[in-house]
Amino acid sequence: MESIADIVRVRARTCGDKIAIVHDEKRTSYAALDARSGEVASALDTAGIAPGDRVAVLSRNCDTFYDLLAGAAKARACLLPLNVRLSEGELAYIIDDAQPRLLFVGSGFEDVAARVVQGCAAPPILVTLDHAYAGWRSRRPQAPRKRVSQPDDDVLQLYTSGTTGRPKGVVLSNRNLAAVWRMSATVPGFDYRADDVVMTVMPQFHVAGINTGLLALHHGAAMVIASDFAPAALLALIERYRCTQAFLVPSMIIMLLDHGGLRPDHVASLRQIAYGGSAITGALLDRARATLGCDFAQLYGMTETTGAGTVLSPEEHDRPGKAGSCGRAWPGLEIVAIDEAGCVLPPGQHGELVIAGETVMEGYWRQAQATAEALRPIGLLTGDGGYIDAEGFVFIEDRIKDIIISGGENIAPSQVEDVLAGYPGVRDVAVIGVPSERWGEAVKAYIVAEHGAAIDPAAVIAWARMRLAAYKLPKSIDLIDAIPRNASGKVLRRQLRDLNQAAAIEASGLG
Ligand code: ATP
Ligand code: MG
Repeated sequence: MESIADIVRVRARTCGDKIAIVHDEKRTSYAALDARSGEVASALDTAGIAPGDRVAVLSRNCDTFYDLLAGAAKARACLLPLNVRLSEGELAYIIDDAQPRLLFVGSGFEDVAARVVQGCAAPPILVTLDHAYAGWRSRRPQAPRKRVSQPDDDVLQLYTSGTTGRPKGVVLSNRNLAAVWRMSATVPGFDYRADDVVMTVMPQFHVAGINTGLLALHHGAAMVIASDFAPAALLALIERYRCTQAFLVPSMIIMLLDHGGLRPDHVASLRQIAYGGSAITGALLDRARATLGCDFAQLYGMTETTGAGTVLSPEEHDRPGKAGSCGRAWPGLEIVAIDEAGCVLPPGQHGELVIAGETVMEGYWRQAQATAEALRPIGLLTGDGGYIDAEGFVFIEDRIKDIIISGGENIAPSQVEDVLAGYPGVRDVAVIGVPSERWGEAVKAYIVAEHGAAIDPAAVIAWARMRLAAYKLPKSIDLIDAIPRNASGKVLRRQLRDLNQAAAIEASGLG
């Protein structure tokens, strides 16, 4: 299948009566999804939306999202899912950047959307999903035009997580998505079958959420949509619908494991959990595998590669020497590490990871310079530092911008985090580099203690001394209530740097 439109049409024919989506007690069959998305496509046509136009959606995860995604694709429009966790200013920035013609507004976001579009240069027309949508969708087209989706149609404009700066609009085509569907047949974690029930709790505005949903539809499986991530509700859904597959980010896994009410029955139906999106510590992975008892597959990817990248299969988790690896390139992708001059490095040497293949984006929306910097003849520069071993296993060592240089030595924050996570009573940890007169930068750790655990920073440093080279040891450790993370569970190191700076100013008496 070569386009989103193909998926819903073909599945309506091959398994029309089968349940495609379960959300909030509501079940949608494949036939109903095809019909509803067809109505959306005609309504977009009637509303004057032309091929290539952007239409946005601001909503918690919901089944209607797939009407809109497939409907926009059938109309050859490009869907722009907005991150519900952004501030109004950040939303306005993206709307001004992408200039969608319509904005579908989910339950609870009506006031926010109305305020946000007021200040926009070319405000989109609002269609509320709770009120206006049903009538809007069933408007009879005046003169329906047939539009045939093309492989090069821009179907999705997804903004990056904004971990390192302002989010960038990544433009993805049918061709990019179809490459993911084709490649993932042999990618553990995404190798769904028709009898799978896929838990989709990842946000629908991130590539991982969209991949899990579209792959479920592609394989004719059923997906259960969780509106938000809430541990108790998620476990209840998995148990009730006997979900067999799920994609979770490490921060979700922490919260599930720490949720007091987790019982084996909740997760007995799970065959496989795919995880990724950010680094996982060995301590968390061991605990998750022991507690949840299903297969685990790690995925590494990014918005710019339509979520594709590497996979560490369940069996490879126990392969000697591969702890800490995110696995090998998906079939069809090529991954290398390059040095600063752009030369491909031999196995084991550290550099920047580059991904090439059909899943690589068309470019950043209206950012010619950023596109030219990222898309090179050799492939997409990921901004991630790491190395590849002789067998092709990729080891990521953080974003290049996050690497700490202390006394001339490079230190990957994730390596220090991985060690500190093993200290008894540590629930979560993040490491940053802070300015140091003596070392240039010094390692600083922020630790969240498990409920009731008392952690003495000096004792942690003494303990870590046996496990880390001296220059990698944290020079200071602060205990905090929670590590700042964004919607995709990624540590916001720039917020920790700000926190450190504010504390330094206060301590100097200049604040
Ligand atoms: P921005 O580009 O706006 O700073 P972002 O890079 O966090 O945001 P995404 O495209 O959602 O936005 O995330 C991709 C990044 O997530 C990768 O480049 C990598 O740094 C990180 N990542 C994804 N999967 C893994 C993984 N399995 N292990 C470690 N890091 C991962
Ligand atoms: Mg990025």
